[in-house]
Amino acid sequence: MNNNIDKKQEVKNICPICKSENTIKWTKRKTQNRGLIQRYKCKDCNKTFVIDDGFFRMRNHPKKITCGIDLFYRGVSTRKVQEHFKAFYPQNSSHKSIYKWVVKYADMVSNFTDKLKINSGKEIQVDEMEYHRRANTNKKGVSKDWFIDSIDCQTRFMVGSKYFKSRGKKEIREVLTKVKYKTEGYVTTITTDGLLTYENSIKKVFGYYNLKKGLIKHNRVNASKGEGFNLYIERLHNSIRERTKTFRGFHGCIESADSIMKGYSIFYNFIRKHQSIKCCPYELATDLKLNSENKWLELIQISKKN
Ligand SMILES: [Zn+2]
Repeated sequence: MNNNIDKKQEVKNICPICKSENTIKWTKRKTQNRGLIQRYKCKDCNKTFVIDDGFFRMRNHPKKITCGIDLFYRGVSTRKVQEHFKAFYPQNSSHKSIYKWVVKYADMVSNFTDKLKINSGKEIQVDEMEYHRRANTNKKGVSKDWFIDSIDCQTRFMVGSKYFKSRGKKEIREVLTKVKYKTEGYVTTITTDGLLTYENSIKKVFGYYNLKKGLIKHNRVNASKGEGFNLYIERLHNSIRERTKTFRGFHGCIESADSIMKGYSIFYNFIRKHQSIKCCPYELATDLKLNSENKWLELIQISKKN
């Protein structure tokens, strides 16, 4: 996280048309649900503009939107969030809008959080969870999907994860590549279950040489052979199941299922306090500092600037 960039953009409002910093505050526009919106004027090209804080052209207040996202990841269904809003806000939002907010902002924030490097411990555990998804509500077809994820045992940070249609070589390598990018220089042990695909994928991603030299170790724990369980990832899966059971399975396309799960890992890493470490995993794993109580809002604003 670069705080210098942050400060610079806070002071100078750059013209989106000619990129000039020579801008001044202009009029304020009154909106129905988002209050007053500051307009700026560029003294070089004479155009006026508003700053996109991540909520540009949204019809609802950022507070309401982030509240909806937060409730959703705390286990409240989109229909219940909608009913709650109906009682407290004059403008009604459908449960579909709440779903759209979740997908939109999970994608936006994960574009930023995916780039963060992790000061991880030595061991990362990787595993898969099976999910069912009704691909098209008109058809009876249920697709059997996989969520492949990984956790750093020391900071409990969910390092890399993705929702896939299968769990083959390609998919496992994609997740391992994320793990390598984020934890390189720290990680020395990759722990997996007995799934054979891991062995080759780890060699491929982390390098045959590094495994041969013992710089990276593949720790295979085969539960069916009575070798125990991978505690940290099993606990993570319990938390994920607890939260995702209210979704009653996924509906629609694979991309939105993936976005929902991206949002979950943001919730897990940055929003909710982890019971064992008594803080959020990001506080141990990254240099990022979040200062406000509404961390969804803060993360959206940071993502927009970076
Ligand atoms: Zn300009």
